[in-house]
Amino acid sequence: MKVYLDHAATTPVDKRVLEAMLPYFSDRYGNPSSIYSFSNEAHEAVEKARGSVARLIGAEPSEMIFTSGGTEADNLAIQGTAFANRHKGNHIVTSAIEHPAVLNTCKWLETRGFEVTYLPVDREGLVSPEKLESELRSGTILISVMHANNEIGTIEPIEEIAKLARERGICLHTDAVQSIGKIPVDVKKMGVDLLSISAHKICGPKGIGALYVRKGTDIAPLAHGGGHEHGMRSGTENVPGIVGLGKAAEIAHAEMKADSEHMARLRNRLVDGALKIENSWLNGSTAKRLPNNANFGFGFIEGEALVLELDFNGIYASTGSACSSKSLEPSHVLRAIGLPPEQCHGSLRMTLGRENSAEEIDYVLQVLPKVVGKLREISPFKKDFGDYEKTLGKGGHGGHAHVY
Ligand SMILES: *Cc1c(COP(=O)(O)O)cnc(C)c1O
Repeated sequence: MKVYLDHAATTPVDKRVLEAMLPYFSDRYGNPSSIYSFSNEAHEAVEKARGSVARLIGAEPSEMIFTSGGTEADNLAIQGTAFANRHKGNHIVTSAIEHPAVLNTCKWLETRGFEVTYLPVDREGLVSPEKLESELRSGTILISVMHANNEIGTIEPIEEIAKLARERGICLHTDAVQSIGKIPVDVKKMGVDLLSISAHKICGPKGIGALYVRKGTDIAPLAHGGGHEHGMRSGTENVPGIVGLGKAAEIAHAEMKADSEHMARLRNRLVDGALKIENSWLNGSTAKRLPNNANFGFGFIEGEALVLELDFNGIYASTGSACSSKSLEPSHVLRAIGLPPEQCHGSLRMTLGRENSAEEIDYVLQVLPKVVGKLREISPFKKDFGDYEKTLGKGGHGGHAHVY
């Protein structure tokens, strides 16, 4: 059996999405910018997709800029705001658990004269609006806090943060790459100025995404050239990709409710089963959590070994343990929620998709206890088993929480 449980990393392309894209690789190859009639179909397809993406998030079509993905959307939002508002100030506020596309953009801006505050989060991964408010100053030009976290699935209080930003006229960006298609996303209701989207996290193709830019928001482009996308992102449009993103957005709009309920049901079954394994816990929030995310901790084993053993059994998941990222550092997200390094090492992220089935989850629940048991047999930490209760008592991450 093959069970794919890494949908936070990427998703399979929906067959309907692929079908919608194919003609734009073959017959309808026109450049959307050309003026003869043959190119109109490419132009119209791009504009139709723009409408579908806008509808999914409650925006106007004219407020959507297509990019090469979530990373570029985050860069355009953050660098674009920073450079367009440099005359007003140089201070940016973000959180410690952002995706690297946000964190490393902020770090780079620090080398270009900007000051960045990285807000801590609580044990569930939540940013505190009060703490955020206390960091705002007259030179603050941008707040960037993600809508939902890619590792632990925590959903941030964006509406509350938006009120603080609005009162002070500070631009607010949110990375909604993980929340789109899983929980309602409405830019007006949320009160954000900028919002990032990526197609390949919602059963669309890789290499295409979009940035919502609220009408009247001042950002500078990263790519200069022929003036495509209202001059905000030059370069001939990735027409098949845009069509794919549009179709994926259309499906997400129509099927989100059913898909989310399905994923939450399976996820809860997975969590209930996995937490029966001794020395296990759930990282993140129980209440404010994406419906498809589970992030487990298993004491006394290494996440890499766990991922490889699961792979051997046809199960694909990921870990926030050290070596997986080539960085030799455990996940910055798990560290930020206060997990001691030794508990980060045994982390296992399983993220579900709409194509997963109950049979697959039952298979995982057969395999997982065996694999964990086997690794513990050979664990160099085995002698510490006796100290387990004490460790969890101190860490506060014990307990067998249920997620609904
Ligand atoms: C995947 C992801 C990104 C990056 O999107 P790409 O399209 O892969 O560049 C950004 N933010 C979050 C939260 C993500 O999960």
